[in-house]
Amino acid sequence: MSGAKPMSRAGNRFADLHLHTRFSDGTYTPEELAGQAKLHGLAAVSLTDHDTIEGCAATAAACAAVGIEFITGSEFTAELDGNELHILGYYLDTTDARLLSAMHQFQTVRQQRIQEMVSRLNSLGVDLTSESVMAVANCKSPGRPHIGRALVQAGICATVDEAFERFLKKHRPAWVPKFKISATDSIALIHSSGGVAVMAHPGLNRMDEAIPELVAAGLDGIECYHTKHTPAVSERYAALARRLGVLITGGSDCHGYTKGTPLMGTVKLPYQYVTALAARAGRSAGWSENH
Ligand code: AMP
Ligand code: FE
Ligand code: FE
Ligand code: ZN
Repeated sequence: MSGAKPMSRAGNRFADLHLHTRFSDGTYTPEELAGQAKLHGLAAVSLTDHDTIEGCAATAAACAAVGIEFITGSEFTAELDGNELHILGYYLDTTDARLLSAMHQFQTVRQQRIQEMVSRLNSLGVDLTSESVMAVANCKSPGRPHIGRALVQAGICATVDEAFERFLKKHRPAWVPKFKISATDSIALIHSSGGVAVMAHPGLNRMDEAIPELVAAGLDGIECYHTKHTPAVSERYAALARRLGVLITGGSDCHGYTKGTPLMGTVKLPYQYVTALAARAGRSAGWSENH
């Protein structure tokens, strides 16, 4: 079938290029994500779970079933000059050996971190097992929210927020630092698996002065539109992206019910930016790509 849409409809089509599922720290299943995207009238979505592509195949299938274009993605936990930042990779080749090996390393380190944090909890007298955390997580890329949920399930904390306040926040007694790939290595890794590298939510990082350096290292775009960017902040980053000659992207960063009300629908990226993103990856945008 023809995936081409008349140009006149392009202005009515929107995407959300930053979404999480239960394959990292979100709550949606792939089917729930696709169903919500349909309800919000989105034409295209990308799944950007943290340090994993585990949910991409199932989410692609769920999106195809409801006629939504799916773009493979991941959100890499990265570091530059000692500061954490997140780099989004789009149009990754999910069969690429180097990508799969790097993902395996990130996930192994995350699983070891869970064990270390549980050991710290145990030495504080908290009765929790890493198996119970991994059962809650039920994915390859576990994080602190899963420990929080396990603490709530065990009746040790009333809420996940309480678990973070008492134990899990940075410098709290069970906190263990997280492995981060260098930002430039993450960009190279994304490129070597055919992908496009975009700096996530720069408004949350206070690293604006490093953006030109990242562009020089190959960064392809900036996530200008994000739930936590005010309109003024979004426009400032869009102007910066234009000045630096890089792509503009956007997404809600919806984690389902992890952080209260689901955020899908709060950012609706005009479809023209998806077309530009696809072109950068040497791909063509369109729903028929899934078939
Ligand atoms: P991790 O990958 O283990 O560092 O966990 C990161 C996740 O924990 C993100 O989804 C954050 O939103 C969540 N998180 C960080 N700080 C808090 C907090 N104080 N309360 C609840 N969730 C938090
Ligand atoms: Fe997250
Ligand atoms: Fe992020
Ligand atoms: Zn995110």
